[in-house]
Amino acid sequence: MTEQTITGLSFRDSVDHMAEKAMKAIKLDPKIAAAIKACNTVIQVSFPVDIRGRVEMFTGWRAVHSTHRLPVKGGIRYASYVDQNEVEALAALMTYKCAIVDVPFGGSKGGLHIDPSQYSRDEMEKITRRFTRELATRGFLNPATNVPAPDMGTGQREMAWMMDTYKHMFPEDINYAACVTGKPVAFGGIAGRTEATGRGVQYALREFFRHPDDIALAKLEGGLEGKKIIVQGLGNVGYHAAKFLSEQDGAKITAIIEHDGAISSDAGLDVEAVFQYKLKNGGIKGFPDATYTEDGAKLLEAECDILIPAALEGVIHTGNAKAIKANLIAEAANGPVTFEADQVLHEKGVVILPDAYVNAGGVIVSYFEWVRNLAHIRFGRMEHRLDEARGIQIIHAIEEGTGRPLPQHIKDELVRGSPEVDLVNSGLDDSMRLAYQQMRKTLAENDDIDSYRTAAFAIAIEKISRTYLDIGVY
Ligand code: NAD
Repeated sequence: MTEQTITGLSFRDSVDHMAEKAMKAIKLDPKIAAAIKACNTVIQVSFPVDIRGRVEMFTGWRAVHSTHRLPVKGGIRYASYVDQNEVEALAALMTYKCAIVDVPFGGSKGGLHIDPSQYSRDEMEKITRRFTRELATRGFLNPATNVPAPDMGTGQREMAWMMDTYKHMFPEDINYAACVTGKPVAFGGIAGRTEATGRGVQYALREFFRHPDDIALAKLEGGLEGKKIIVQGLGNVGYHAAKFLSEQDGAKITAIIEHDGAISSDAGLDVEAVFQYKLKNGGIKGFPDATYTEDGAKLLEAECDILIPAALEGVIHTGNAKAIKANLIAEAANGPVTFEADQVLHEKGVVILPDAYVNAGGVIVSYFEWVRNLAHIRFGRMEHRLDEARGIQIIHAIEEGTGRPLPQHIKDELVRGSPEVDLVNSGLDDSMRLAYQQMRKTLAENDDIDSYRTAAFAIAIEKISRTYLDIGVY
């Protein structure tokens, strides 16, 4: 947040400017533009909680940017810097994000002003349950109208507490499990949700590297194999993205930036080892066989092919944009590049894959989880044995036709059926590929659109405006 002041633009203004650029490019009727940009509702709640014998007041927000589709969807962030402006900006991004990847939700976001590291597990549970009651009694948490998910500082644990609180408040709501997503699988969550946003970053980059013209635009060559990547933030999103890209695509994570500094290694860092070290020590400082830099943000400017900011907003601003050396930036965090920095990077020829597309994996899989909760059945449950039987029939047919037995590993694959996580990843991959292809088509076809970001916003705004016209907004 602090870096945003360097630009003079708030996070909310930054998002609005980006949307306005796309609205201009598609020559959107200004009245519809105004309706789309406006944040519909925002509530602020303040509530007391008894902490270690004294009463502490907590303040939280839930912003609903657009209800053109219901429910509205968006994470809940726990951080000591959260404020209304940030929550409104993030809610707007959610509206555009859902539209880009064809997830039928409106946009929302929540935040609680808290430093989670200062409270025990039991205290966090007490605070979360109270916050949930504040939101649910006002209709800002409900499976039909407003469905939160994890964001910075929250995870499966908080979602389980929220769902359980809602269930006790409204036991007659048969769809109570759908009131939040990102729950543990044992509490109605879906396999693959925890890693979905990082997985989506991987799928976005894989799709980028399938298009030689796009690779050339970023002045890069070849595929992901051997590409030097710097990641900022080794939390849920950054950890999974870095892990999958290094372990499955052969990319080299040459630096990791965290809250307590940065570590780098030209040979590439072992992401799992760094993550385990961070879990144990609370930071990355002191990680062996790597160079430590206290001023972590400085590493954003280091030599690399791909930069993945996966922590905070506003980290690339007018103060450091000129110094960025990456050819490609994949915005895994929300709003890591300010509006003005975006222009500077564009002039430098840096290609940016925008947040509203790159980190949409979380909301795509949240959508699958919500549908699964409403259906009250695990994906694949009905067809699992049928798939297995079909696989056996295929094996018999091939073996009879060729007169030779198939190798065991092929047989195993054919009779395996599809576990839920495979179905989830398949749906995620498909959504990320289709959205990317729409973005590059829009970029190629409209001369007034000069970046993937403006293309992404243009696609989203066209879709939303169609809904607004259909339902009548003024
Ligand atoms: P998280 O809390 O799991 O991880 C954030 C990480 O950033 C932590 O490891 C933290 O130590 C680190 N960090 C904090 N301050 C830092 C600093 N100054 N420099 C470097 N690192 C710092 O959060 P997350 O869920 O991974 O979210 C990260 C970003 O991704 C946020 O912008 C969030 O809005 C966005 N996002 C998250 C999801 C999701 O599913 N979790 C979905 C879409 C977008």
